[in-house]
Amino acid sequence: MKVIVARHAGVCYGVERALKLADEAAAAGGDVATLGPLIHNPQAVAALQGKGVGVASNLDDVAQGTLIIRSHGVDPAVIVAAENKGLAVIDATCPFVRAAHTCAADLAAAGYRVVIVGESDHPEVEGILAHAGGEALIVQRAGDLPSKPPSRRIGIVVQTTQPPAVLQEVVGALLPRVAELRVCNTICSATAKRQESAAELADGVDVIVVVGGHNSGNTTRLTEICSARNPRTHHVETADELEEVWFAGAEIVGVTAGASTPDEQIRGVIDAIEALAGDA
Ligand code: SF4
Repeated sequence: MKVIVARHAGVCYGVERALKLADEAAAAGGDVATLGPLIHNPQAVAALQGKGVGVASNLDDVAQGTLIIRSHGVDPAVIVAAENKGLAVIDATCPFVRAAHTCAADLAAAGYRVVIVGESDHPEVEGILAHAGGEALIVQRAGDLPSKPPSRRIGIVVQTTQPPAVLQEVVGALLPRVAELRVCNTICSATAKRQESAAELADGVDVIVVVGGHNSGNTTRLTEICSARNPRTHHVETADELEEVWFAGAEIVGVTAGASTPDEQIRGVIDAIEALAGDA
């Protein structure tokens, strides 16, 4: 049984950077906490806890020490409040998310009505909204737009993980109905690259295993993409979840992983699949 790993799989730049900053903070000692789980991967969060990096659900839970802001970013008022409490803040906001913050703030300052293309309850979108001054229309698809545009001058910002097709749809729906439309394409290519290479891989293998947190939206999306192309798709968090029966008669197994799946977790799954092949 041969194992092929997707061309683009596993941690993206922003997540890798956040993990590195958290490791450095843990090594420096003292009380360290992240505001919310650093990434959507229970094993990686547990490993950080083992190094002394706790998870705070809100600012009230952190009395002292260092607070790490995750790659999704936050409302800037949260950072100000943390600093006012005397906390040392490490801002691990991904630079690509920061670019969306800047766009939102610039568009709002220039008098555009900001439209955010994204999921309204996602922490990243909440941060973008705050940077737009708390005044923005959030839409997940063109069908969410009101029949009359909220202004003749619209500025669009996009959640970094949205599919380009959704942005195109929203732009296409607004363009004929407004006097001016400015678009900040803040989509990050990491998600699209992982989705494209997962789809490519799913077509040419007997079985495909997607590795990543069951609570990870981007890993779940990879599983959906692969399942649509290959019915022998399985989503696991760790090697322990693999079942020998999945690989019966398989010659080529594909492995892919979400943007929040650390390398060692992917390696563990590959090693376990290869061991199953050895046993067969
Ligand atoms: S998916 Fe893109 S924007 Fe999001 S953390 Fe990763 S690199 Fe940054």
